[in-house]
Amino acid sequence: MRHLNDNQNEPVGPDPLASLDAEVRRHGARVATKCRVCGRWLVSPKSRAAHEGPTCRTKDGGAA
Ligand SMILES: [Zn+2]
Repeated sequence: MRHLNDNQNEPVGPDPLASLDAEVRRHGARVATKCRVCGRWLVSPKSRAAHEGPTCRTKDGGAA
């Protein structure tokens, strides 16, 4: 079986945005994803990966 992405040797880490985040930080910016529950911007690596903020993740419902 052939892998179509074989020529793209990107390392797969726990947070795919970590390297991008490190770069934009040098410009005083942050990488963020939106919470899929409340729509807030998330900047912490854990929340970014989960697309949910800590509060919404705990409640599992997001009734603010
Ligand atoms: Zn949220």
